[in-house]
Amino acid sequence: MPELPEVETVARDLQRWVAGATIQGATVHWDRTIRHPQPSERFVAEISGATIRRVGRRAKAVLIHLGDGRVMTVALRMTGALIVTAADADPDPYARVVFSLADGRELRYRDVRKFGRIGLWPGGGLRSVGAGRGARSRRVAEGSKGYRIGEVFSGHGPEPLTRSFTAARFAERLSRRSGRLKTLLLDQSFIAGVGNIYADEALWRARLHPLRRADSLTSGEVRRLHRAVRQVLRQGIANRGSSFSDYVGADGEPGDNAERLMVYQRTDQPCYRCGRPISRIVVGQRSTHFCPRCQPEPGPSAAP
Ligand SMILES: [Zn+2]
Repeated sequence: MPELPEVETVARDLQRWVAGATIQGATVHWDRTIRHPQPSERFVAEISGATIRRVGRRAKAVLIHLGDGRVMTVALRMTGALIVTAADADPDPYARVVFSLADGRELRYRDVRKFGRIGLWPGGGLRSVGAGRGARSRRVAEGSKGYRIGEVFSGHGPEPLTRSFTAARFAERLSRRSGRLKTLLLDQSFIAGVGNIYADEALWRARLHPLRRADSLTSGEVRRLHRAVRQVLRQGIANRGSSFSDYVGADGEPGDNAERLMVYQRTDQPCYRCGRPISRIVVGQRSTHFCPRCQPEPGPSAAP
């Protein structure tokens, strides 16, 4: 499943290749991919003729900012991909929505399992989303004006790679939670964009057991985890994401980060730090990989 680095890779590719392009029309092959507006004929009518101003990312969604201020959100979910193809590329049976660009190329939304969703929204409100009290009051204000882009992300936590996501802010958020670290890192309302791969990688790098209680961390441990989360995400972006099954960049090619992972899906293989075999446990129905020596188990006092 694409996480922050994978979605960021797609967004940066699209920024390079389709910013400035005009969407001439769209064909929807799977109606349920369109979340808003509905029906899909209305979506097609509203997107046709729009110019792509820039492409960005919020949480695990690609944001396609249009020239008139509207924003198209693409949540890739399990198997979604956005791929730019030449005009004469072979048809793709898994393309659920195809945007034809005025220059002849196509922007294809491919999704084997069909869990991804595309929405087209009026702009506004995005900047302050997830910023705490301000975000909540904005949400109310927006309610009277209908659904806007800020509302779409109002349940999401802070972006871990932004400048405002400081170790102090992270410490403050962690200290108010008694949940397990692994569970919390996957909670999109706590921190945006981290999924199973990068949660395991960050905890290994920070030498913290996945079952540690969030409020049990020392300030040194919080700083380690803060640094680790940002490092593993940045490394993932630098390597164009981790591909295990369906994930590809907008060039249709898999990323290079999977073979550079330290712990994820390395069960029984030697830890790169100490040589002990990597363990696998299930936390909140998600498989979790860690080194039992480098990431010591929490003591009995840390049990709930
Ligand atoms: Zn180890």
